[in-house]
Amino acid sequence: MCRHLGWLGAPVSVAELMLEPPSALLVQSYAPRRQKHGLLNADGWGVGFFDDEGVARRWRSATPLWGDASFASIAPVLHSRCVVGAVRSATIGMPLEAAATAPFTDGHWLLSHNGIVDRGVLPATKTAESVVDSALLAALIFDRGLDELGATIAEVGAADPNARLNIVAANGSRLLGTTWGDTLSVLQRPDGVVLASEPYDDHPDWRDVPDRHLVEVRNGRVHLTALKGAP
Ligand code: GLN
Repeated sequence: MCRHLGWLGAPVSVAELMLEPPSALLVQSYAPRRQKHGLLNADGWGVGFFDDEGVARRWRSATPLWGDASFASIAPVLHSRCVVGAVRSATIGMPLEAAATAPFTDGHWLLSHNGIVDRGVLPATKTAESVVDSALLAALIFDRGLDELGATIAEVGAADPNARLNIVAANGSRLLGTTWGDTLSVLQRPDGVVLASEPYDDHPDWRDVPDRHLVEVRNGRVHLTALKGAP
């Protein structure tokens, strides 16, 4: 089970989100606090963000975040209003490659998946970036459209009862998340909103999202909706 994070708000540096907090994704890559599946997230990392023209930019790697020779020096000067970052613990049998590492994109959205899904329940697609389950799921979500994210997750979850389907997705003006089998927390800051698999610090404003919910952040407000199949 990987760990991921999304940001929507004022411009912040990628380092401020992923590297600097005491339990940032960097620390979560070797010492996650809430991870139930897997101990390490050493199979790669990725960050995507929207630039000032709204173009999705990505940097992904199949090596551990803590071992990257260059990212820590560049991340402080990468600023964006909308960021999706992830560290990966590959599911057994899945490819180890940068293309299998979140965030995935269709050119408009950036999307990360924490979890596992039986690829047999997903439709075959030519547009997936990798054969990893997460890329196939991302391709299905992009194909259906992000307005249907909650319905798509509930449908896939019903087709594969063992699936874990936590998503973080963003397009520059919207930030979405789902919980389906794993943790997700929200932090509403004065300058924006963070969605994260687990809190990156001990600020008292972090709130846990209940399982099987859709979270939508728009105009600085956070909306929670129960998904079909929620307890
Ligand atoms: N199943 C995905 C992969 O293999 C995601 C794994 C995870 O969430 N740990 O990369």
